[in-house]
Amino acid sequence: MEDCVFCRIVARESPADVEYEDDAVVAFRDIYPKAPVHLLIVPKRHIPSVMAMEPGDVEALGRCILAARKLGEAAGFAERGYRLRLNCGPEGGQIVYHVHVHFLAGGRGRGA
Ligand code: AMP
Ligand code: ZN
Repeated sequence: MEDCVFCRIVARESPADVEYEDDAVVAFRDIYPKAPVHLLIVPKRHIPSVMAMEPGDVEALGRCILAARKLGEAAGFAERGYRLRLNCGPEGGQIVYHVHVHFLAGGRGRGA
């Protein structure tokens, strides 16, 4: 696997503000937040993109969404809601090729 910034965060070889971790995923603050709460939820196992996703990756991606639910509840957004975003490929705005779910909250529906 090529050098991957999110793999380095998962391995704690690069710094990050980690908000949540379990056996399958890590969630940390986006360094350039686009909403009052902007987290990135990544599977611990390197999967480059939804565009490279295989049937065996379903559990890892599903665990990211389950983590989003837990983060939403823990941060007080269980009722208010939040936005989950997956950027896929060059025209989908994907810059980091380790699949990640953007968790955006607190923007009162404007861009979050
Ligand atoms: P995407 O455009 O979906 O690939 O999103 C990549 C996101 O990762 C962007 O919102 C960046 O601000 C964020 N990002 C890149 N490097 C880091 C890092 N080292 N720590 C936290 N967030 C990062
Ligand atoms: Zn990676």
